[in-house]
Amino acid sequence: MATLDSFRRLHPLWVQRIANVAARGATVRATFLKELERFFNLLEQSIESGDPAWMDGLLYDWASTPPLTIVQEKRYILPQLLNQMLMALIDLAREKLREKEALEVIHVALPVFTYCIEKATRFEMESRLERAMKELGAVQEELERLERTKSNFISVAAHELKTPLTLIEGYTAMMRDTVHNLSPQASHFLQGIYSGIRRLRQIVDDMIDVSLIDTNMLKLNLQPVQLKTLFGLLKAELDATFQERKQTFEIRPFNGMNEWLIGDPERLYQAFRNVLLNAIKYTPDGGKITIDGRLLPGFVEVTIADTGIGIAPEDQTLIFEKFTALGSAQLHSSGKTKFKGGGPGLGLPITRGIIEAHGGTIWVVSEGYDEEKCPGSTFHILLPLQSNTENARLAQLLNAQSEQERK
Ligand code: ADP
Repeated sequence: MATLDSFRRLHPLWVQRIANVAARGATVRATFLKELERFFNLLEQSIESGDPAWMDGLLYDWASTPPLTIVQEKRYILPQLLNQMLMALIDLAREKLREKEALEVIHVALPVFTYCIEKATRFEMESRLERAMKELGAVQEELERLERTKSNFISVAAHELKTPLTLIEGYTAMMRDTVHNLSPQASHFLQGIYSGIRRLRQIVDDMIDVSLIDTNMLKLNLQPVQLKTLFGLLKAELDATFQERKQTFEIRPFNGMNEWLIGDPERLYQAFRNVLLNAIKYTPDGGKITIDGRLLPGFVEVTIADTGIGIAPEDQTLIFEKFTALGSAQLHSSGKTKFKGGGPGLGLPITRGIIEAHGGTIWVVSEGYDEEKCPGSTFHILLPLQSNTENARLAQLLNAQSEQERK
């Protein structure tokens, strides 16, 4: 076919021209020349057969292999390069062929180039996406590795601190029990050491709990529990603190409070205690803290509402991650119950871990953070009822218990 002859005449000139424009440096040009030869041969085949799909393999290679990126010296993206190749072909046809021949060459080459540009755009997108996914995967792996290192560090640090702490505790107890007639000043100092030890032990225990939760090793000592018992015990423990902070504490009776759940009473106590201690801490003197709830199909929902400083919407998920202390709480870690006392940021992650280990969920609702207006926060805790449990023996025990109560 005459058009193909015209093509073949343009072939060497076109390859040279593109190589001169697009590739700098002798080595680069040599590689690129080979690729251009391959392109032109396939272009001829496409035109001869009327099927532009001949170009697919080459386009895929160009879109995904680095050699072309080197050739392009990052100055082009593939569709731009193809566009430039087409322009060069049109210029050469106009320069070297008669008008009719030139028009024929352009007429047959144009659809193939249009096809190439469309395909190249798609392949390039796909290969960029693939590269981005690979990079994301690597970042994710690195983040997971860091998270593991962090968990290991917490676990090792907690266990390493535990031994000397036990020693200090033991010697202090021995001093108290064996050294008599301590002066009032010495007793005062001893008291100070004791409260320091208690605080430190609490932090070390929290660190151990967090690492147990992180590694899915939190063991629950499951047995029938009633929420009203837990709330009663919490009230007894925290009453003095409420009085000290002049806060009102109300437990509103609700359906579900008397239900028998299957849970670990100590762990559930710890979870509710953490939320209550926060409510006390982040509510000014004179505020109110209310426990309420309701019975839902298959679940009991408990709400713990305070009239405190509130939590900004963007922080409402963040606070359940370990070591998150917001705003002013970051500044000082002074005490468990002082207003805005702050802490290491382990209470809520532990609470979440305990609730989730029971098959429940926890979340917070608050209009936002405002120390002046105190919009308050409400923590919601959803715990499954016994009917959801898969532990048949406990379920039996539970039924027996409910039966006895009914009699
Ligand atoms: P911390 O040891 O700092 O109290 P937590 O994990 O218990 O750690 O809480 C994380 C952060 O969540 C706190 O530092 C505080 O900023 C915020 N927070 C928790 N409970 C409340 C609440 N009831 N009102 C306002 N902010 C709260």
